[in-house]
Amino acid sequence: MSFTAFSKIFNNCTIYKLDRGIKMGRVLIVGAGGVGRVVAQKCADIPDVFEKIVVASRNISKCEDIRREIKKRTGRNVDTAQVDADETEALVSLIKKVAPDLVINVALPYQDLSIMDACLKAEVNYLDTANYEPPDVAHFEYSWQWAYKEKFRKKGLMAVLGCGFDPGVSNIFCAYAQKHLFDQIHYIDILDCNAGSHGHPFATNFNPEINIREVTQTVKHWKNGKWILTPPILDPKSVKFKFRYPVVNEKDSYLLYHEELESLVKNIKGLKRIRFWMTFSENYLTHLRVLQNVGMTRIDKVDCEGQKIIPIKLLKALLPDPAKLGSNYTGKTVIGNVISGIKDGKSRSVYIYNVCDHAEAYKELGAQAVSYTTGVPAMIGAMMMLKGIWNEKGVFNTEELDPDPFMEALNKYGLKWHQVNFKGKLPD
Ligand code: NDP
Repeated sequence: MSFTAFSKIFNNCTIYKLDRGIKMGRVLIVGAGGVGRVVAQKCADIPDVFEKIVVASRNISKCEDIRREIKKRTGRNVDTAQVDADETEALVSLIKKVAPDLVINVALPYQDLSIMDACLKAEVNYLDTANYEPPDVAHFEYSWQWAYKEKFRKKGLMAVLGCGFDPGVSNIFCAYAQKHLFDQIHYIDILDCNAGSHGHPFATNFNPEINIREVTQTVKHWKNGKWILTPPILDPKSVKFKFRYPVVNEKDSYLLYHEELESLVKNIKGLKRIRFWMTFSENYLTHLRVLQNVGMTRIDKVDCEGQKIIPIKLLKALLPDPAKLGSNYTGKTVIGNVISGIKDGKSRSVYIYNVCDHAEAYKELGAQAVSYTTGVPAMIGAMMMLKGIWNEKGVFNTEELDPDPFMEALNKYGLKWHQVNFKGKLPD
């Protein structure tokens, strides 16, 4: 090794040991579905940061598929492992064997707490993209994971929650607006549009079970210090309006409850109202309505000729795998925030958004845009942690961390964002 090369390595080591305190390089990705695949591929593209990658899931054949795809596309070797992440001890053994600096949880929200427990036991940092949800109740909230704050802090570890697109980038957009664009933020509307077409009569863009549980719930948004309840999207009285999205034009957008509202209400000071809107096609709503009416979205056990089955799990087995939707997917997703408030004594409204093309995501990684827009931010969050740019102790939502390097990385790694003055009208 030349002296220059040696001194470069030595200097780098010194910098991150003194200034950052976090060792670089090893990640254990738990979950090998649509999102896990994108995270693994994106990490594999950046060997300087992600020196070693291990992909683990309940079903090892999916991990093996990812391993083969990465080898073919990049020439890199990643390792794979089988693990049931509901079993904390099994995961602790795997973590000890792999010795990662960070566990990236892209399994299901049901596993969040067991994976956080395993991280605490094995003393490793943690990142996920969706908040905890108990399997037997269709209800999600952060309180269960926020309760780990002190435990992570005491062990000198960091956990980053909800680092996909929404939650994740939607929170980062708010943090960026708070840091640079406003003295005070009063209103936030997060608008999520998938204007793509996958060619199937009915499919969900991420795990069907989690997706259907989320969109069939009673809706809530936050106004003047209170949560306001409104009917679920399938109810004729659900709240909707037409929003003119960039590139894809006007779409029916339904009020929906989404988990980032809970943390943003806490972390964006001076907020008067925050809402989340999502587009749904009439075709999607009609299918979902029929499935719900016949009981196929039930999450309790029913007797079927002597066998106990959970209808929504059967439905998941019958529906297309979201990870495999990409090949015929056309159209775009447009996700962003309209943020209004005061700057230098004057009212202003800005719209910060990303447009992602399903076919381009497929061309790059063989993924559809929903997996892509979730997996890329998870990789970026992991990079922020490994590089020590995000280096706190405890449990954090993404808006609590420095948005600037993250925003820069979004542009660099495939999710270019745009900022415009917003002149449109939103419902009161
Ligand atoms: P998939 O169903 O495609 O993949 C989930 C993966 O987790 C599968 O490989 C599955 O294995 C594995 N898994 C499930 N249970 C266990 C377990 N007990 N132990 C180990 N592995 C397990 O889901 P997606 O990739 O679509 O979604 C992944 C996550 O991303 C979800 O939590 C979802 O809510 C979140 N998400 C977040 C978004 C955001 O913007 N923040 C947007 C979209 C998704 P198996 O094959 O055996 O079932």
